[in-house]
Amino acid sequence: MSELAEFAQELDRALDDLGHESGGAFCIVLVDRVEARRLIKAVLTGALDRLYVIQAIDSFIKRIGTASRRLAPRCVLCSKPFRPGKLPTVIAIIAGYIDAPSTGVMAGFCKICARRAGWPVGDWRRGLGAALLPELRHIWPDARLADPMQLCCDMPGRA
Ligand SMILES: [Zn+2]
Repeated sequence: MSELAEFAQELDRALDDLGHESGGAFCIVLVDRVEARRLIKAVLTGALDRLYVIQAIDSFIKRIGTASRRLAPRCVLCSKPFRPGKLPTVIAIIAGYIDAPSTGVMAGFCKICARRAGWPVGDWRRGLGAALLPELRHIWPDARLADPMQLCCDMPGRA
């Protein structure tokens, strides 16, 4: 099986698991470098209880750093593999929309795909969320984003 087909299958399986937990309702947290910095600061100062988001991002980036090219995480839209010098521009944490999801799927967007969806200007989260929806619907035809405004962590001070 080709690397691409393997990647697609692995992603499908993971999204399938998430959807089973929530009946196809998903939430996505989208984090770019600026947001990651704000998150880390907010968690370190105790303003935000989102340590798991930072840990998830950290282990995703470590996986990119240590994985062989064949097994490296890929851009969820164009399948380009991420490498240590070519990290994702935006990282998505996808989980079932339930109170305590037992698992989540990490996905990365390369710079080209992120830009195509509007990053870094305006309401880029909405653009990336919309770009991800067809992927989710591929597994869950009725997949929906539970709350389009939840595309970011509920940061204090954010409108
Ligand atoms: Zn891409």
